[in-house]
Amino acid sequence: MHLATRATSYRIDLPAWIDDELVDVPDAIPDRTERMRLVHRLAARNFREGNGGPFAALVAETATGRIVSVGVNVVLASNVSSGHAEVTALGLAQTALASWDLGGEGMPSHELVVNWRPCIQCYGATMWSGVRTLVVAGDGPELEQITTFDEGPLTADWAAEFEARGIEVVQDVLRDEALAVFRDYRAMVDAGGALVYNARGGAE
Ligand SMILES: [Zn+2]
Repeated sequence: MHLATRATSYRIDLPAWIDDELVDVPDAIPDRTERMRLVHRLAARNFREGNGGPFAALVAETATGRIVSVGVNVVLASNVSSGHAEVTALGLAQTALASWDLGGEGMPSHELVVNWRPCIQCYGATMWSGVRTLVVAGDGPELEQITTFDEGPLTADWAAEFEARGIEVVQDVLRDEALAVFRDYRAMVDAGGALVYNARGGAE
């Protein structure tokens, strides 16, 4: 019998509640801190809705704050382990702009705003995306300590490697608010209401 692959495509979809959550959000958010505030709001709702972890991101035009896309972590909802908020937001922005390079010729500079330093996967995805700026709420071990996610072996000079490639890194934007979302998530995990989806959870 010949091989018939059991799937020929896979999807990353934003959850339906995103539309409700964005109903009072303007097309452009000129203030970067306010852009992060929206990210925190989406992250806080995302895990409660059961889509995935407490993570959200958005892609915006840096100069104007025009929002090109938003993303949340959809690992649980999609059964795709790479469905992190950054990958989702970047893919949706590239789809919206019909370009694999968000820093392409004639385009305005784009930034990725996300509620913590990226994991090793999203570190690479950000580097490949063409964004000129990465804005994170924080860096450091707190995310893994609080949530118990394994973010992978990101090196201490991760930000310098972005800078060396012309990608500015802006840190500590609403950091305490990010930690508050992670603590709320942890409380839900401890109460048995959310799954920390680290891989290799099987018995063998
Ligand atoms: Zn990630």
